[in-house]
Amino acid sequence: MNIKNYINGQYLPPVFDKWLDNYNPSIGEIYGQIPNSSEEDVEKAYQAAADVFPKWSNTTLEERAIILSKIASLILEKLDVLAAAESKDNGKPISLAKAVDIPRAASNFQFFANAITQFSSEAHESVGLNAVNFTLRQPLGVVGCISPWNLPLYLFTWKIAPAIAAGNCVVAKPSEVTPMTAFLLGEICTIAGLPKGVLNIVHGLGTTTGQAIVEHPNIKAISFTGGTKTGAHIAKVAAPMFKKLSLELGGKNPNIIFADCNYEKMLATTVRSSFANQGQICLCGSRILVEESIYEKFKTDFIQKVSELKVGNPSENTTDIGALVSKQHLEKVKSYIDIAESEGGKILFGGNKVEVFNCENGYYLQPTIIEVQDNNCRLNQEEIFGPVVTLMSFKTDKEALTLANDVKYGLSSTLWTNNLNRTMQFSKQLQTGIVWVNTWMLRDLRTPFGGTKESGVGREGGFEALRFFTEPKNICIKYE
Ligand code: NAD
Repeated sequence: MNIKNYINGQYLPPVFDKWLDNYNPSIGEIYGQIPNSSEEDVEKAYQAAADVFPKWSNTTLEERAIILSKIASLILEKLDVLAAAESKDNGKPISLAKAVDIPRAASNFQFFANAITQFSSEAHESVGLNAVNFTLRQPLGVVGCISPWNLPLYLFTWKIAPAIAAGNCVVAKPSEVTPMTAFLLGEICTIAGLPKGVLNIVHGLGTTTGQAIVEHPNIKAISFTGGTKTGAHIAKVAAPMFKKLSLELGGKNPNIIFADCNYEKMLATTVRSSFANQGQICLCGSRILVEESIYEKFKTDFIQKVSELKVGNPSENTTDIGALVSKQHLEKVKSYIDIAESEGGKILFGGNKVEVFNCENGYYLQPTIIEVQDNNCRLNQEEIFGPVVTLMSFKTDKEALTLANDVKYGLSSTLWTNNLNRTMQFSKQLQTGIVWVNTWMLRDLRTPFGGTKESGVGREGGFEALRFFTEPKNICIKYE
């Protein structure tokens, strides 16, 4: 199936009629084409957005909320179609797409439909000066949203929903690797009554289409989720134009396990936080640090549980681990397994490609557990972003904290303990934007989301996202 750009409410082919192949990773075959959009396509999208901005930024909050809610309902109505498309495009188990990705995309719109009506400005009376101050929060204009392939519709809409709720118009680019559900979103927005041009979706490569969005002189802000290297490049390009930037980047998240935790709950959650979505979630706990007294028991139990996971065709409901997103990504993940032994790592489970019946050319890999001794090894320092976790033991709280923080990333961490003092000490000292205690990936959409260090700049979620997509303006009125 060929997909097209969604510009000014219409599906259009790319200006220069250039196309890219779209792969189904579960069978390793091309199943359609996507636009290889140029600067000219981005310009068309920008123009459509700029033309409608004066009108959209003046719609009432209630009108916007009604349209956003309608988009949310339509996403849920089309849940099966969208989940099937996501699974085919990305390789993720259809059960995961149905239970998490697509409902979350709907929640993103519903959440910001509600949030925008409660987003209020500050006012201050300057007592003794006969003046009142208030803050206008004005939309920025046309903004760019660029998203990755791992949670395609989920992350795409996490940016678009607050941007349009706040009165901006959008030029958005999904990953070229997983464009399908973004394509389907266009039609949903049209049916929901979103005015033409408020959301424009251009498909294509990061280095051309994405770059054209970032370089566009009149696109006021870039909300980007993707790799750290790409984020650094985008920051460099955007800085001389003083664009507002939100960068959600890579992670190398510690999962810290103490003997005093609820063991069974921890074990089940750790299997999930290690291998959900084939380990291709920026929040996956890819470094498992276990207190020495339970290390051997944990190792045995964890290997047992992981050996029960079914790697298979993502379109089957019983599959736990589907295909990796692309051949190139599979090779990258495998290359880390290859260097494990040269670095003194020991493969405790997995490490090999998996042949799946009727999907022989798909990109399947066993969930892989590697025991390492030294936190400075590449396996513990670099983001692998696949079904590979490392195990290490620690003796003291201090050692656990040092190991947890000893990476350049700072996205999330997970702590398993029932000790309140330890919970507070770690919560304060872990250098990550998110700390989960006795849970993983529990998201309340009102809370700030984002990372520290090389995991990014800025926060998404709740009013943080609405603040990002608006410019505060102080009005000071003096009276006699
Ligand atoms: P990527 O950086 O290769 O690409 C992300 C997006 O940026 C894609 O749409 C791509 O086309 C575009 N892009 C690439 N080069 C560009 C350029 N020069 N200018 C503008 N756009 C450009 O990342 P990916 O491989 O798609 O995704 C995986 C990465 O995303 C991992 O590092 C993962 O940790 C990260 N991620 C982070 C979060 C988070 O919230 N922090 C969430 C999901 C994924």
